[in-house]
Amino acid sequence: MHEGRGPMKCTACKAPAVIDLRRHNANFCTEHFLRLCRDQVVKAIKDFSMLEPSDRVLVAVSGGKDSLAVWDILLDLGYQADGFYIGLGIGEYSDESGRYARDFAQSRGATLVQVDLRDEYGYDIPTGSRAARRAPCSACGLSKRHLFDKAAIDGGYDAIATGHNLDDEAAVLFGNVLHWHTEYLARQAPVLPARDGFPKKIKPLVRLGEREMAAYCVLRGIDYIVEECPMAAGNRHLRYKDALNQIEAGSPGAKFDFFHGFLARAAQNFELDPDEITLGSCANCGAPCSTEVCAFCRLVQRATAQPVELSETRRRA
Ligand code: SF4
Ligand SMILES: [Zn+2]
Ligand SMILES: [Zn+2]
Repeated sequence: MHEGRGPMKCTACKAPAVIDLRRHNANFCTEHFLRLCRDQVVKAIKDFSMLEPSDRVLVAVSGGKDSLAVWDILLDLGYQADGFYIGLGIGEYSDESGRYARDFAQSRGATLVQVDLRDEYGYDIPTGSRAARRAPCSACGLSKRHLFDKAAIDGGYDAIATGHNLDDEAAVLFGNVLHWHTEYLARQAPVLPARDGFPKKIKPLVRLGEREMAAYCVLRGIDYIVEECPMAAGNRHLRYKDALNQIEAGSPGAKFDFFHGFLARAAQNFELDPDEITLGSCANCGAPCSTEVCAFCRLVQRATAQPVELSETRRRA
C-alpha cells in the first residue's frame, strides 16, 4: 500500500520497492518480489500435486511472458524442464516469438524442442484454417494440443506445463460460468492427470496474474514478445479479462477468490465420470481419439488439400 509518504518500501525488508501488489496489500523490492513469484509456484505445485522433484517437464513455450516465466521458474526450482515451441506460421508474429523462445533457451543453456507446422505438416495457421474452414484459433488450438501431447509422449516427459496465469484461468471460468458450459468447467483444474494416452497437464502459474508475470520478466531481464497474436483480435476472452480487471480495480483479490474459490468449493460438482469417456486411437496417427481419424489428422488433410480440389468441391456443391 502506497500512502504517498516518500518512496514505497518493501514490506519484507524496507528496501525501496519496485512493485505494489494490492491483492497482497504489500510492496516488494526486486529480490522479495522474485521470491514471492517462486513461492507462489511452489505452493501451486504442492497444493495441486503437480510434480515430483525428479519429474521431467515439457514447457509449452510461445515466446510470451507467461511461458518464458514459467520455464524460468521451473528451471530455478531445479526441475528438468525442456521447452517446446511450435512455428505456427503467423507472419511476423511467429518469426519474432520464435526468436524470443530460442534466445531464452540459449541464455539458460536449456533444451528447446521445435516443430514447424509448414515444414513438417505442410500448412500454417492462416492458410490452413481458411482451407479447412475453421476459425484460426480453433485450428491453432487443435494443432497445439495435438503436437504438445505427441511431443510429451514421444519424449517420455512426465508432464506438460503451460503458462496459463490467474487472469487467463479466471477469464475462461467467467466465460464458462456465463454460458454454463458445464462440460468445460470440468476441465478447469490446474492439473489434468495423464489418462488414455494423454500426458499429464499442469498450470503452475494459477496463483500469479498477468501484471506479476510481466514484472517478473522485466526484473529477470527476460525479453518476450509483447504484441498479442494478430488472430486474437476480438477474442471474447480479452473482453472477459477487461471486465474482470474492472472488478479487480475496485475489489483487489476478486479474481483470485473467483477462480480459487471455484476450485475449492465448486469444481468437484462438475467432474466427469472417467468411465463415461471411452477412447480408441486414430487410424492414421495412433493418437487417442473417439472417432476413426483424429481431429488433427482431419485438419491436416483439409488444410493441405490442393486449391484445385477445393474448387472441385465447390463446383460440385
Ligand atoms: S490467438 Fe489464436 S491463432 Fe493466435 S496463437 Fe492464440 S490460439 Fe493461436
Ligand atoms: Zn525486500
Ligand atoms: Zn490422427
